[in-house]
Amino acid sequence: MTVNLLDFDASRLNAFLAERGEKPFRAKQLLRWIHHFGEDDFGKMTDIAKTTREKLAAEAIVAPPRLLTEQASSDGTRKWLLDVGTGNGIETVFIPEDDRGTLCVSSQVGCALDCTFCSTGRQGFNRNLSTAEIIGQLWWANRALGRDPKGERIVSNVVMMGMGEPLANFDNVVAALRLMLDDHAYGLSRRRVTLSTSGLVPAMDRLREACPVALAVSLHAPNDPLRDEIVPINKKYPLKELMAACLRYLEKAPRDFVTFEYVMLDGVNDTLLHAEQLIALVRDVPCKFNLIPFNPFPNSGYQRSQPEAIRRFRDRLIEAGYVVTVRKTRGDDIDAACGQLAGQVKDKTKRTLRLAAAEQTTHTIRLSRETRP
Ligand code: SAH
Ligand code: SF4
Repeated sequence: MTVNLLDFDASRLNAFLAERGEKPFRAKQLLRWIHHFGEDDFGKMTDIAKTTREKLAAEAIVAPPRLLTEQASSDGTRKWLLDVGTGNGIETVFIPEDDRGTLCVSSQVGCALDCTFCSTGRQGFNRNLSTAEIIGQLWWANRALGRDPKGERIVSNVVMMGMGEPLANFDNVVAALRLMLDDHAYGLSRRRVTLSTSGLVPAMDRLREACPVALAVSLHAPNDPLRDEIVPINKKYPLKELMAACLRYLEKAPRDFVTFEYVMLDGVNDTLLHAEQLIALVRDVPCKFNLIPFNPFPNSGYQRSQPEAIRRFRDRLIEAGYVVTVRKTRGDDIDAACGQLAGQVKDKTKRTLRLAAAEQTTHTIRLSRETRP
């Protein structure tokens, strides 16, 4: 059977080569060719013996997901749609800033967690991405963007904030993270790789042991009843447990704070009372806040908070001593902003069917009301 070497982190590549009688330094050479130089043709890996290259070509491939489309936004944001088979597609977004270039990477086709304000969640869930499909996004972006005039990679940071819940695809995500950090592959520092989770508490503990990177937590609500409603995984791992998990994570994290993401939904979670509750909630957790103005999508049922409400909320947190950033909406002209990534998801959860049926019912009720004499 042919194996895809993009699926292997260093330890698996070592094992694969050892089974074939190859020396351990071959793994380093191969990682460099595949990830550092973005080479997918064994024939061009010139410092590897010809017989080894032939052996590899007979058994293995370097196969990133196929590129379907590429879009560029007027603000420099780039978005790639990658084919992951059987009609499914995933999206990867590159966001250039003055001092860094950030790639937003997807971990699943769709998402099973159903947060009410999220377009990916709305699309339902198909499957986990393989390690090759996750790291393949960085592989493509590096190939497309290359290096700056100083020879530095244009992609300097990665955030696992694309489609899907990364901690629900633990093993494949961790292998991909290890490749991102590996000096022979992408060599990113742990502080420049951020994983965002909606709060899968046991998996946060596992990540702390397996591969601690910077952590962002999608909080979005300051009390359990509201969070139960808009981030339903909260019913399983409520806020008190989540805060305790954040503290445990920080014991081994590369940064000494957690970033709490908070989507600003008009009239839902954006009052000063919510800000007060939030300050009380996070009291014991060293943290920063990232307020994300809601990015609308069709039939979401939500509106973005008014600029004045966002300002008031931010100022209250700053007054309480916190560092707060309000995320700039980038790439919204190509639907590349947070929560707008939709890719192509062949939903297996029937969520899209249920939602379509619900919309149909509402539509029918409205119609029958409207047509009533
Ligand atoms: N599943 C992970 C990572 C992907 S989502 C998580 O939930 O953390 C990345 C961020 O975008 C999360 O904070 C998510 O809650 C937020 N988000 C989702 N939909 C959004 C929307 N429509 N507008 C703004 N932010 C959104
Ligand atoms: Fe999934 Fe994150 Fe969207 Fe929630 S916000 S549905 S966890 S991708």
